[in-house]
Amino acid sequence: MTHSFSGRDSRRPVLFLDFDGTLAPIAPRPDEARLHPHEHTLLEDLGALLPVFVISGRAFPDIESRLSVPTLSGLSGDHGAVRRFRDRLTVHPEALASREALADLASLLRERTRVVPGALLETKEFSLSLHYRGVEPEGRAPLLMGVERLFRSWRERDRFRIFEGKMVWEIRPAGGVTKEETMDYFLGLLSGETGVSPGDFFPVMVGDDTTDLAAVNHAVILGGAGFWVGNPPEGLDAGAMRLRDCAEVWIFLSRLRDLLERGGDCRELLGSPVRKV
Ligand SMILES: [Mg+2]
Repeated sequence: MTHSFSGRDSRRPVLFLDFDGTLAPIAPRPDEARLHPHEHTLLEDLGALLPVFVISGRAFPDIESRLSVPTLSGLSGDHGAVRRFRDRLTVHPEALASREALADLASLLRERTRVVPGALLETKEFSLSLHYRGVEPEGRAPLLMGVERLFRSWRERDRFRIFEGKMVWEIRPAGGVTKEETMDYFLGLLSGETGVSPGDFFPVMVGDDTTDLAAVNHAVILGGAGFWVGNPPEGLDAGAMRLRDCAEVWIFLSRLRDLLERGGDCRELLGSPVRKV
């Protein structure tokens, strides 16, 4: 598919979206998060107007099953470990190298967490998510302290990192498997496909959680636009913009569609309902 743009800023906008907490409100259980049919339609429309990528922390088959958007340029799961550009699926080499060790940690953690009511250990191919939203408030600190102790004494601990999300601990390979690196990976492939130099893209990244922070900042640093959904965290680039919640993300996406349909300048993206951090 080719995309053409006109307007005062000739850079090509490229849209990167997180899924949970950005497109779909956080659900009590992760498997309950879904998009509405009209939201699928809007994403499909956008995908016909500019390259659109979804980069999620969910396992790749999981995020793939939740998005039925044929115009999507690419999709990434497991925080960037698995990437599909057009029809080509690849796995980050560091994620592949860490797979066996991760399975070992998963069995250790399963022992620890299965005795805690409400704890949910999600075992993905290249990362683990420990969800504790369902644990009684007084049980959360002991659970996390126990998991941290276990992790600290594990022989392979240096190859992984724990990231704190919204009522979830994400355990991922330490070596370069990140959403921001995935953005660069996709921009590089787009550049190869279109002949547009990477500096001529206007990357837009929308995310809401710890694992998105560096990616949102990365979009700003690349001269594009970074949008934070919710209350801005410490460390968010002063040039980032803010959207209140998922509902505002969809208003923003719908305005982006209207803007691109009339050949508008991508810098107009920075207008209402967006607010400065
Ligand atoms: Mg999120």
